Amino acid sequence: MAQIEGNSPFEFRVRFAIIHLKSTHGTVMALQLRPNCEYCDKDLPPNATEARICSYECTFCADCAENKLHNVCPNCGGGFVPRPIRPVTVMRPGVCVDKQPPSDKRVHLKYSLDDVAAHSAKYRDIKPEQR
Ligand SMILES: [Zn+2]
Ligand SMILES: [Zn+2]
Repeated sequence: MAQIEGNSPFEFRVRFAIIHLKSTHGTVMALQLRPNCEYCDKDLPPNATEARICSYECTFCADCAENKLHNVCPNCGGGFVPRPIRPVTVMRPGVCVDKQPPSDKRVHLKYSLDDVAAHSAKYRDIKPEQR
């Protein structure tokens, strides 16, 4: 009985409100730093200069972004930019890799290599700003 009471709709509302507050508070939100290239699985730590991201934070190494994907994100079709480095040094209170740690969830391609190649071939000659 205690468990059923613990999952009452009221409890859900309270939890949701807390999550909502946190995620909309400006200083807590941060770019998701994914730990690997979604294509070749290479490690991409927060200070990797070769990490590339699309506007949805899909993450690839520079080599795959250029030579495998030809600047076409396989998930959203957008282009890539270099991912900013998140400093390890605390220069302002609460803002550094310790306070907003990188994601530890490795991400892998959702589509087959053939599908990704076809998707890239279809859009690579159109500039990202015109897709
Ligand atoms: Zn890669
Ligand atoms: Zn994307």
